[in-house]
Amino acid sequence: MTTSVIQNPELKLIDEFLARSSRPCSHRNMTFKFCPRCAHPLGDFIHNGEPRKGCTVEACGFVHYDNPTPVVAAIVELNAHVILVQNHGWPTDWFGLVTGFLESKEEPEAGVLREVREELGLDADLVGLVGVYGFDAMNQVIIAYHVRAQGHIQLGAELAAYKAVPIHRLKPWPFATGLAVRDWLANRA
Ligand SMILES: [Zn+2]
Repeated sequence: MTTSVIQNPELKLIDEFLARSSRPCSHRNMTFKFCPRCAHPLGDFIHNGEPRKGCTVEACGFVHYDNPTPVVAAIVELNAHVILVQNHGWPTDWFGLVTGFLESKEEPEAGVLREVREELGLDADLVGLVGVYGFDAMNQVIIAYHVRAQGHIQLGAELAAYKAVPIHRLKPWPFATGLAVRDWLANRA
């Protein structure tokens, strides 16, 4: 956790929410206890000067680097609005961009269009990359795209709600996918 995360009240809020959350996507609930290679217990080691979890069986040699996971995110433009979505279990006033994990060997550009199709039932065209953002609280790296969609929204089962915000009323939030919204709006101005 960096100092800036602790000092920023909005980030502290999301961090506390994620810490309380029992959802499996919360990074705090995803610590390995056993080696995924040989199923022996993991132990604590210093590996190249860094504290790491690793396999207690020397011949196995597995090291758990806990690298960040890439996540694709979409600023979905639909009829001069941007579509924001709410995941199940979020506070009812929280909305964010459409996001998702990549499938094995999937290109990010294909993955973001698939997520828009799965979560909103919309076909979309890729307009461009907005930016790449570290999301420390979830140990993720967000790859954010602007996409332009057509059609009528059919909300996917993994979402609780959506809202269509007129672009001129869209306000960024200071963490996670909100940083992509901030940069997108700044580049339009
Ligand atoms: Zn092992």
